[in-house]
Amino acid sequence: MTANFDTELETRLVRYAAIDSQSDERGTASPSTTIQLDMARLLAEELTGIGAADVQVTDYGAVLATVPATAEGPVVGFLAHVDTAPAFNATGVKPVVHRRYNGGTISFADAPGLVLSLEVSPYLGGKLGHDIITASGTTLLGADDKAGVAILMTMARHLLADPSIPHPKLRLAFTPDEEIGRGVDKRLPADLGADFAYTLDGGQVGEVEYESFSADGAVVKITGVSAHPGYAKGKLVNALHLAAKLVNLLPQQALVPELTDGREGFLHLYEITGTAAEAELRFILRDFELDGLEAKGALLRQACEALAATEPRATVACEIRAQYRNMRYWLEKDMTPVNLARAACEAEGIAPVSVPIRGGTDGSRLTEMGVPCPNIFTGMQEIHGPLEWISVQDMAAATRVCLRLAGMAVRG
Ligand SMILES: [Zn+2]
Repeated sequence: MTANFDTELETRLVRYAAIDSQSDERGTASPSTTIQLDMARLLAEELTGIGAADVQVTDYGAVLATVPATAEGPVVGFLAHVDTAPAFNATGVKPVVHRRYNGGTISFADAPGLVLSLEVSPYLGGKLGHDIITASGTTLLGADDKAGVAILMTMARHLLADPSIPHPKLRLAFTPDEEIGRGVDKRLPADLGADFAYTLDGGQVGEVEYESFSADGAVVKITGVSAHPGYAKGKLVNALHLAAKLVNLLPQQALVPELTDGREGFLHLYEITGTAAEAELRFILRDFELDGLEAKGALLRQACEALAATEPRATVACEIRAQYRNMRYWLEKDMTPVNLARAACEAEGIAPVSVPIRGGTDGSRLTEMGVPCPNIFTGMQEIHGPLEWISVQDMAAATRVCLRLAGMAVRG
């Protein structure tokens, strides 16, 4: 397996990154933005062009395809997401290739003053001589997750061009709306039809991740009593004041994202909206363990009860909803997919690393829904912002690991 994929990966990423396919949390349809379908249609066309079977764009906006088996074995799924993060400007992405990185700082044509350096991104220090792709300074790059898309398309093209390479049936899925937590439609596990799968949505070379956060979301609705402020004495109950009180009843010196890392979870207030009559506070709760998640929910509920006790004329309603669960709960019962990916890395001379993801992937939901789905590296760095970058050679390493994995999945 000495094929050189650099040129193909670079061309694909540059082409895909220039297409705006940002998702939008406020969009109610599926996919959340119609521009994601531009990517979906393009990929469907390209998949047909390289000879993939069963090419389909589902009505929830996912592109599915098959690389037919050339040998016996389990059906292995591979996923990447076509949407880019709503967190930063993603319109008019102009990818720039910085050839043979020399260890210096990288500057951006459209943002004088912006620099990518080893201080900002120490991982860059290991990439001397690599071809680095960035955006031009005013947008994100969208290597998250178009690098994953480029890697899987390159793998598929390579395998379809040479049926003498032994691998079991592979199912590809390019999904919308991962960045807004809606990447896994309830029909996806059945439509994918894989025994196990991998998302190509990780960072540094060697990452094989099988732990994500367990996640809940909470909405607290405070209803006060509205009154004309000129005649409000003894009547007005200001929901905004109660919202501020609630914030002060919650921990601010611990258990918040800005003060936690590693395996610590948090309770994060990310939005307050409202008027004196009514206010709404939105939280996310995160922990690697269910009892830790439960404890954070209990803390929020207790604070709401304490607040309600101070003002009987107000109502304080707290609703907590499950979002996704740590995929480790399922994967640790059968580590086969994880071990296969780790062995594929080793076979390529890459040391596998498994660190818990302080977030979720499409694989978190898929695993919970019955398709074990660890996450594999792509090389993407400094994602969701103007400094986002990726090494073409890192993408090539990911492509080789996926090909190796497909070969190792062959039965017997
Ligand atoms: Zn991603």
